[in-house]
Amino acid sequence: MEPLRSLILAAAGNDTIRRLVTTAPGARSVVARFVAGETVDDALAAVAALAADGRHATLDHLGENAGDPASAESAVSAYLGLLDALRAGALTGRAEVSVKLSALGLRADEPAALDRAARICAAAHQHGTGVTIDMEEHDTVDATLRVVRELRRTWPSVGAVLQSYLRRTEADAAALAVEGSRVRLCKGAYAAPPTSSGTAFATASEVDLSYVRCANILLAGGGYPMFATHDPRLIEVLGERVRWYGRREGTYEYQLLFGVRPDEQRRLAAEGETVRVYVPFGEQWYGYLMRRLAERPANTAFFLRALASR
Ligand code: FAD
Repeated sequence: MEPLRSLILAAAGNDTIRRLVTTAPGARSVVARFVAGETVDDALAAVAALAADGRHATLDHLGENAGDPASAESAVSAYLGLLDALRAGALTGRAEVSVKLSALGLRADEPAALDRAARICAAAHQHGTGVTIDMEEHDTVDATLRVVRELRRTWPSVGAVLQSYLRRTEADAAALAVEGSRVRLCKGAYAAPPTSSGTAFATASEVDLSYVRCANILLAGGGYPMFATHDPRLIEVLGERVRWYGRREGTYEYQLLFGVRPDEQRRLAAEGETVRVYVPFGEQWYGYLMRRLAERPANTAFFLRALASR
């Protein structure tokens, strides 16, 4: 992993840096580029704006690593409130939700996190929309996939996420490439384990090649692949692979992040592709913002300039 990326991801877990960044006056302007706002109304406004030019959304109520049951329960309440608001705004056809199991207390108590995720899935299903379970640090992949498997017994459309920077992912993709299975494929946004452990690929080109191998597996199977990337080269390759496998529009989708390559989002939608934008909102934006900065040095420069300009 490149030194700057490792440094920023390390800062994401440092409380002193967290305090400095979240209280810096210039931080808000950068946050606004990647986060739809702090309230449910902000999130609904973003969904409506995306819908206006044919884009769908998946909403992430920001928050991760709930340390105690009370904060995990408040994350559940936030999602239930969000789902009610989506239904009241007649937007359930345009947006699903993305959920991080760490926000539901996965590390402390897996059965409790499963129960909390199940309550969110039940509400989403009742309201006519769906849920995708985000993937987080590499040491939570097994637990996350276990929870997804359990949820799918009742709600088969619950989305799973795979990260191509992990060597195990080809095998996970093969296991998940089955009829009705919704799978988001991304490169992976978290600090990878040391390459000496053999768990993750060491170079960007290996991660890209792994992405294409996994995409082939998902396209060859009977599931619904959701290609989450902004990488222009990968998007081109995916277009070719989709045609090669004879996939029709509507049997797969592209996903991009709120605020990243919006012109490309519109271009794909205008070509008739299904495009879903990952829309984070809420007050706990720090970890999310740091991962976006780590992905692109230019974002970090933009952020530092914004901090310095106040
Ligand atoms: P990169 O090689 O990082 O970027 C390719 C090009 O895209 C860059 O050159 C640049 O032009 C543009 N770009 C990429 N990132 C940015 C940015 N932040 N700002 C501006 N331009 C940028 N990761 C997880 O680990 N778990 C998840 O559950 C997860 N869910 C995701 C859901 C969606 C919808 C998306 C799009 C990403 C998700 N990610 C998740 C993040 C993902 O793993 C990558 O970290 C992120 O998408 C950057 O990788 P990339 O494929 O865009 O390629």
